[in-house]
Amino acid sequence: METDNIDAKTFFRKGLGVTYDDFIILPGYIDFSIDDISLETNLTKYLKIKRPFVSSPMDTVTESRMAISLALLGGIGIIHYNNSIPEQVEEISKVKRFENGFITEPLVLGPENTVNDVYEIKKSYGFSGIPVTENGKLNSKLIGIVTRRDVSFEEDLTKKLSDVMTKGVVAGEAGITLVEGNKILKESKKGKLPIVDKDGNLVSLMSRNDLLKNKDFPNASKNRQKQLIAGASISTRDEDRERLAELVKVGVDVIVIDSSQGNSIYQINLIKYIKSKYPDIQVVGGNVVTAKQCKSLIDAGVDSLRVGMGSGSICITQETLAVGRAQGTAVYNCAKFAREYANIPIIADGGIANVGHITKAIAVGASAVMMGSLLAGTREAPGEYYYKDGIHLKKYRGMASPEAMEKGGAKRYYADTERCTFPQGVSGAVVDKGSILQFVPYLRQGLTHSLQSIGCKTIPDLHKALEDGRLNFEERSHSAQREGSVHSLQAFTDPTFGMVRSSISG
Ligand code: GDP
Ligand code: 5GP
Repeated sequence: METDNIDAKTFFRKGLGVTYDDFIILPGYIDFSIDDISLETNLTKYLKIKRPFVSSPMDTVTESRMAISLALLGGIGIIHYNNSIPEQVEEISKVKRFENGFITEPLVLGPENTVNDVYEIKKSYGFSGIPVTENGKLNSKLIGIVTRRDVSFEEDLTKKLSDVMTKGVVAGEAGITLVEGNKILKESKKGKLPIVDKDGNLVSLMSRNDLLKNKDFPNASKNRQKQLIAGASISTRDEDRERLAELVKVGVDVIVIDSSQGNSIYQINLIKYIKSKYPDIQVVGGNVVTAKQCKSLIDAGVDSLRVGMGSGSICITQETLAVGRAQGTAVYNCAKFAREYANIPIIADGGIANVGHITKAIAVGASAVMMGSLLAGTREAPGEYYYKDGIHLKKYRGMASPEAMEKGGAKRYYADTERCTFPQGVSGAVVDKGSILQFVPYLRQGLTHSLQSIGCKTIPDLHKALEDGRLNFEERSHSAQREGSVHSLQAFTDPTFGMVRSSISG
């Protein structure tokens, strides 16, 4: 049938802006098992990662906790720059210092804290093994530890920890290896091992459960020194060259130049500067949505391109500036050009609202996807959860929202060069998605099943099928989109971390 064989070239030729929801991929032929599938991909020309997942450089999405967890799972986090240089540098350092099994920033309480504080921590973070130090902070003298056992029969919630904590704690000396720590934990039969320096000050914590989990991250994204890899975003402003120099000093692997319209003289100059001064740093340029923009940045020397303008869930750029592009079309055009022109990978940035969108972005040429809203509701994103109308939420805001701009996010959207600021984003909230330790494996599994249905074992295979016309597409009418989602039900349970429900409610 002729209509079964519409390839990407034909499909995207119409000149109509296509979003991920506007098309569907037709199934292929399955002659392999799900275990034969690899999701390894090029984040940049020279940097491969095992999973095509990248977290957005936004202050409600990526700080060290997200970057560490995502790197452990085979992706990469890009630390935002809506902070001071020392703050951003510290976030990268935390990723670099991370050793599986050592909690380098444990929550600590003091002797004056109460049993209730332990319950509050348990409620918000899920753990209750908390070291107690003299001043209630890290790098202060360790005087005890509270665990579930110390507080579970305690009825008086106002009781001070000095009265309930376990004293005379077994501790490890700073500098011990995982193997040594593991041995002490085993012999002492404890769940937590505080690590102290030679003066008895707490410097980190080891958790027995983490040691048991240690082997759970065979796909972690690591560099040659076996450190987790991390990226950082910077602006094109001259003053950010100092930021760049400091980030390079602490071992940043990838620099993402954060600009909503990347095809500028400022960005071109910055790319040339980074490539000549720090040739080992991988540079992601952007954002771009056209082949012409890609060409400028590729000619300047980028190693990867970030594609998307106005497709993000918190974006209002397309409405306010009347500039941008539908994301499916942008990804297809940029990826095609960048691949043919210089074999540069692209990262599809923004508009990923469910796991199917990840497959679609990659099927039309992206090598990885960058996600904001999808990850902002996870435990690893910055910020606290709160309840509204009985729903557990976390704040999520655009970096060009009035709120974020007040803190410095205007850099990306050149709003602060204007007499009045001109917001290009909004603030809102997203639903609790639990930990990315469960959520990202779910995304990975979804992508794997999609690849199998399409009949491709790897991402390069999928791109080959896209290029040679084996991959076939079909436009979806509005009713086709309705039919393809949950419909005709009075109520249902959403097994997709709330993604189906939120796509129905818009
Ligand atoms: P607990 O026995 O109630 O403390 O909890 P578990 O040991 O079962 O789980 C604690 C998990 O939370 C481990 O994976 C830790 O690595 C992680 N974690 C992250 N930050 C902290 C922290 O500040 N303190 C503690 N105790 N655990 C943390
Ligand atoms: P999401 O995954 O939520 O759909 O989109 C995240 C992406 O939106 C980010 O990676 C970034 O490219 C873009 N973005 C972040 N903040 C803003 C903003 O305030 N305005 C606009 N136009 N785009 C934003």
